[in-house]
Amino acid sequence: MSTGLYIHIPFCVSKCAYCDFYSLACGKNGQNELKSAYTASLCRQSKLWGKIYGRPSIQSIYIGGGTPTILPTKQLTDIIANIKSSFDISPNAEFTVEANPATFDSDKLKALKNAGVNRLSIGMQSANDNELKLLSRIHSENDTERSFAVARECGFDNISLDIMYGIPDQTTDSFKRTLYKAVSLSPEHISVYGLQLEPGTRLFNNQSLYAFPEEDCEAEMNGLAQIILESSGYRRYEISNYSLPGRECAHNLLYWNGMEYLGLGTGACSYRDRRRFRVITDIKSYCASQDFTDVTKTDEILTEEDAAKEYIMLRLRLCRGLELKKLYSITPNAEKYLSRARGFIKAGFIEENGGYIRFTPKGFNVSNTLLSEILF
Ligand code: SF4
Repeated sequence: MSTGLYIHIPFCVSKCAYCDFYSLACGKNGQNELKSAYTASLCRQSKLWGKIYGRPSIQSIYIGGGTPTILPTKQLTDIIANIKSSFDISPNAEFTVEANPATFDSDKLKALKNAGVNRLSIGMQSANDNELKLLSRIHSENDTERSFAVARECGFDNISLDIMYGIPDQTTDSFKRTLYKAVSLSPEHISVYGLQLEPGTRLFNNQSLYAFPEEDCEAEMNGLAQIILESSGYRRYEISNYSLPGRECAHNLLYWNGMEYLGLGTGACSYRDRRRFRVITDIKSYCASQDFTDVTKTDEILTEEDAAKEYIMLRLRLCRGLELKKLYSITPNAEKYLSRARGFIKAGFIEENGGYIRFTPKGFNVSNTLLSEILF
């Protein structure tokens, strides 16, 4: 079975106002000792887990964070060299690195390219400087343009841009500007996320101070994204993701298809043999660990029924939808879930054809509510 590999880099220049990912704000060049110690631990974990899990065949690698490109080039290339010697990397593996604008230059990107990285995911978020400022992003619209051009000059022909709606003060017009700017750069892939207010973040703690777009306005923005991106040649293949034909993100597809993955680094999750486990979010304990058993915790072991429910939930995120034959093969309760799902066909939330059942665009807008009705 093919496996995905995720590597977490928990360092950022500063903390964005909406972010609850595990990452330490350390300026552009701070925490050098901790970065070196962390790199050494990642290399050690990579060697150890490569051995423990029998050098599994890896179909996709994703170095995310945090801000991976904040690490010095030598540390990034050391991590990559270790991954390559510890796992059986498929020659066609997709290899993505998250790269925030204003955190890389052409030397760093060329080194990543030479090391085998073949895809970049750039956190654009918005084309409006006032919105970027509200989110406490460290980059400007110009930085995104410049960074994108540098990535192309360095030979990256597979680039994804992340953009966001639901930002305070954002309007449908300002979101349109973001969409058209993203399209004008001609990336191969665009992810469109709605801003989530996560407890503990600065936006959450001060939400009364901000003017967030109303729910209707957010739904309109989501609809605009679909219209503008699809009319520009992008195909929606997942609830939040669009790509040019053949440029879907293999790593994310692996998650949504219920395949196995291993996660290296503090805070990284793994899924194998229906067991979900993760390394705790504590960088000092992670760096001090010798064999990583003391910092790895099992979150849950899925029963067959849990795994079937998860399959339904993940597959319904995809525009292709859920294959009926496959569902019947993994759970004796397929008919129960399908009859609930079919109850939404008349209202136009779900459609069924070609042996698949899927959300319509209208259904995607209320997918969480529909999923809980179908599954529980
Ligand atoms: S750069 Fe990304 S990971 Fe870092 S604080 Fe901002 S949103 Fe979070």
